[in-house]
Amino acid sequence: TLENFNELAWQKMDNLLPAIIQDSATGAVLMQGFMNQEALKVTLESGNATFFSRSKQRLWMKGESSGNVLAVKQVLADCDQDSILIAAVPHGPTCHLGNHSCFPEEKLSQQNFLSYLERFIGERKNDPVEESYTARLLARGTTKVAQKVGEEGVEVALAAVAETKEDLLGECADLFYHTLVLLEDKGVKLNEVMEVLQKRHSK
Ligand code: AMP
Ligand code: ZN
Ligand code: ZN
Ligand code: ZN
Repeated sequence: TLENFNELAWQKMDNLLPAIIQDSATGAVLMQGFMNQEALKVTLESGNATFFSRSKQRLWMKGESSGNVLAVKQVLADCDQDSILIAAVPHGPTCHLGNHSCFPEEKLSQQNFLSYLERFIGERKNDPVEESYTARLLARGTTKVAQKVGEEGVEVALAAVAETKEDLLGECADLFYHTLVLLEDKGVKLNEVMEVLQKRHSK
């Protein structure tokens, strides 16, 4: 979390910086507002996201009248300190139109860590490190990777009916990871799968 907000590039845009709010549980982008130093200070001290409203020309705590506050979990600056990213737990809908997000969520990608992992697995394929399990697995070819996915799928099912939640979490993680390795092997992008899911959803 942000250590010293005096080092942010406040002067760049008239003492206002864009603040992007994401749902800390899913990474979904919820809204964007502007903060001045005071708004950021109040946000950090109160734990509720507070902006400088350009229309109201005053500090505005999200939820001040609706009660739909944003409980801040983490505050980060971007690479050149001119933009703020806040992970928060939304208490009720963030959008004043009653939606979870101000952006059209059904069109947003929700695969944040999976897509990070997808990129990482791709790097392992292009630049195989000897100690890398992923690189060795990919080197064994499609049949072996496909077999692993099959095994992990069965393990997920078994864990769900006969084991603990912790076991189920571990097996799901195994399945997701091996599925990503298989997609890499087959040259399929995770986004292509997501597109299929989104299309099915909209039917
Ligand atoms: P609230 O902060 O939720 O109590 O809402 C108070 C007022 O702030 C609303 O009537 C809107 O004018 C504005 N507002 C609330 N939520 C948003 C939002 N996500 N983005 C922009 N303006 C908002
Ligand atoms: Zn920047
Ligand atoms: Zn909105
Ligand atoms: Zn497993």
